[in-house]
Amino acid sequence: MAPDRPPSVDRLARSLADTGLPHPLLVDAARQAVADGDPASVEERARDLAESMGRHLLTGVVNATGVLLHTNLGRAPWGAAIDDTRYSTLEFDLSTGDRGSRQDRAPALLARACGAEAAIVVNNCASAVLLVLAALAEGRGVVVSRGELVEIGGGFRIPDVMAQSGARLIEVGTTNRTRLGDFASAVAGDDAALILNVHRSNYRIEGFTESVGVSELADLGLPVVADIGSGLLDVACPWLADGPPPWLADEPAARQTLEAGADLVTFSGDKLLGGPQAGVIAGRADLVAACAAHPLARALRPGSLILHALQDLALAYLRRDGDAIPFWRMATLTVDDLRYRAAAIAPDLVADTMAVPGGGTLPGVEIPSVGLRLPGDHAAALRAGTPPVIARVANQTTLLDLRTVHPNDDAVLGAALDRLGVR
Ligand SMILES: *Cc1c(COP(=O)(O)O)cnc(C)c1O
Repeated sequence: MAPDRPPSVDRLARSLADTGLPHPLLVDAARQAVADGDPASVEERARDLAESMGRHLLTGVVNATGVLLHTNLGRAPWGAAIDDTRYSTLEFDLSTGDRGSRQDRAPALLARACGAEAAIVVNNCASAVLLVLAALAEGRGVVVSRGELVEIGGGFRIPDVMAQSGARLIEVGTTNRTRLGDFASAVAGDDAALILNVHRSNYRIEGFTESVGVSELADLGLPVVADIGSGLLDVACPWLADGPPPWLADEPAARQTLEAGADLVTFSGDKLLGGPQAGVIAGRADLVAACAAHPLARALRPGSLILHALQDLALAYLRRDGDAIPFWRMATLTVDDLRYRAAAIAPDLVADTMAVPGGGTLPGVEIPSVGLRLPGDHAAALRAGTPPVIARVANQTTLLDLRTVHPNDDAVLGAALDRLGVR
């Protein structure tokens, strides 16, 4: 008998099947333990791995930060109610039995909801801008105000996107002031194909400023593309019983931007639209068709999960049913409702708070809210629960804002407070 034969990696791995880890990952842990000359540690390593994998995989969390569109938590909460035992009519026409277009349903419904002639959907707003520039201005100039050469979070920079699209940036005006005449001379003197107006979603310029609105740009004779970003469909918010909330302020909306003369608008699916990650190009049918026909459209197209989710969302907007859209339901809850829920969870911890829209939209805007305030930094302990609770911590105080917590999860917060021993 060979006394020093290394233990079989496979046998070690099999002995740990009860950790719930897939066999190949157990083999990795066992191999590492043997390579380190410490096969006895394999069980502990496998349990550590199972634990850290559980923390690492995508999972649902309770967002108690009060940031409605939390970029790190997937922006807007919205899922598709699909039957995964069935196939989808993604590119199938039920009436003829022939091939159909995946761009026929959700995009058409979104176009209807914002008063556009047509629309297509791509993977995000960055792709929407890229596709518009490539399809309508490749090898030609695109006129943009220097005050709008923005960077949106995650490295989306207008000059870089422009370069990738093959269009040439024609900057006009200055950082703080751009006048109609600046645009007019650029349009007259160059091979400009488009005017691009970019919403400064996540910052503001204050003081000695001047900018040109879409309606004035529309008179210059070139197609005007407005990247509005957030995906607010209509400033009147007809899907909300009480109309637009005051904090929406001057946020541009797709319908009014098109009415003002924009030929196309581009926007995200998962900001103020409240849906899944997606990008929408909406407006003139001929320009939308040119975008759809460009080879990049194939590379940027979304799949059936996203299109199905957007179809449901667009139908909710068309039904004027804002309550069916979690973002709008949370955003418009009354402070009294929130206070009532907070008092029911822990009456001694109720505190007034301020929630924010987030997601790189509406900078500086706060939405009055109510939450639970507890002394000390409990963020890590709250994250360690099941489901994890994500809290806000400032000045050694932990805040659980109820505006972003679904009422079904109030009990989760209560149980978490019990575990912390503060209730
Ligand atoms: C957020 C934003 C984008 C990028 O949108 P994604 O969907 O995150 O790609 C582009 N333009 C504007 C004006 C935005 O606000």
